[in-house]
Amino acid sequence: NAGRNNVCFYSDILHLKALGREHVAIQARLSDAIRLGSLQVFYQPIVQAKGGEVFAIEALARWQDDKSGWISPELFIPMAEKVGLIQELSDVVTHQAFCKLREWRDAGLPQKLMLNISRSQLFAPRFVSNLVERLNEFRLRPSDVILEITESVALTDYSRQLKHLKLLGAAGFRLAIDDFGTGYSSLSQLHEMPAQLLKVDVSFTQRLHTEEGRRIMQAIVQLASGLDMQIVVEGVENLETARFLQGLGVHFLQGFHFSEPVPSGVAELWMRLGL
Ligand code: C2E
Ligand code: CA
Ligand code: CA
Ligand code: CA
Repeated sequence: NAGRNNVCFYSDILHLKALGREHVAIQARLSDAIRLGSLQVFYQPIVQAKGGEVFAIEALARWQDDKSGWISPELFIPMAEKVGLIQELSDVVTHQAFCKLREWRDAGLPQKLMLNISRSQLFAPRFVSNLVERLNEFRLRPSDVILEITESVALTDYSRQLKHLKLLGAAGFRLAIDDFGTGYSSLSQLHEMPAQLLKVDVSFTQRLHTEEGRRIMQAIVQLASGLDMQIVVEGVENLETARFLQGLGVHFLQGFHFSEPVPSGVAELWMRLGL
C-alpha cells in the first residue's frame, strides 16, 4: 500500500500479524497444558561453593507442546503473567514440587526447595495462606521452601511489595531476590527487605572474563556481606568460574557446570550421591 520503497515496512506488518496469530494459538495451548497437567517441573541444584554439597534445588517449569516441541519459559511465563494464567501455572508447579519434596523428606534428603514467584501472585489475596495450606497437605513447613522473587524493575509498588514480603517472612518462608542487579533496588531498600539470599543474575557471570566484570562481582559480594545476606551466583558454566567465585567468598553456585535443570529422578540421584 505504501509503494515500492516500502516493501520492508509492509512485510514487517505481515510478520507481526502472523506472530500475533501464532501467539493466540500458543496461549490457547498453554491454557490446555496447564489444565490437562502436561506441564512438567525440572530441577536444578544450588551447591555450596565450599564442599560442593547440594544445598537446595530450584523448580523450573517446562512445557513440551505437541506442535512446537519444547517452548522456553522465557516465552510462556511472561505470556501466562499477561493473560492471567500464572497462578494456575504456579499451582501446577507447586503441587508437583511439593509432592517430590515430600518423597525426598521421607527418604531423608534435607535439601531446600526453591520456587519462583511472580509479582502478581505476591499481591493476590490469600496467597500466603493458600501456600501454607498447600504445604500442610504435604506435611511440609515453610522453612523447607525458599521463595524467589525477581528484583523489582519499578519502584512504584515498593512499599506494597515490602508489606507482602514481610508477611511471607512472618509465615516462616525464606526469601531470595532473583535476577539481582537487573532491577533498581537502592541500598536502603535492600537493607529493609526480609530476604536472606541474593541471586546474582547470569548476565554478571557472563562478564567475568573482563577485569571490570570481575570487579563488579567482587563489589556485589562485599555489598551482600555488608547487608548480612548470602549470595547465589547463577550461570556458572565452567570450573574456572566456580573457582574464581569460591575465592571471592560466594556461598552458593548454580549453573550448567554442576547440572542443567533435570527431571526429578536425576535430581534425586545427585541429592543422594552428590554431583
Ligand atoms: P530464573 O529464575 O532466573 O532461572 C534461571 C534460568 O537460568 C533458567 O532458565 C535456567 O535453565 C537457566 N540457567 C541455569 N544454569 C545456567 C547456566 O549455567 N548458564 C545459562 N546461560 N543459563 C542457565 P529457564 O528454565 O529457561 O527459566 C527462565 C525463567 O523463567 C526463570 O529464570 C524464571 O524467571 C522463569 N520461570 C521458570 N519456571 C517458573 C515458575 O514455575 N514460575 C515462575 N513465576 N517463573 C518461572
Ligand atoms: Ca529463579
Ligand atoms: Ca535468576
Ligand atoms: Ca531470569
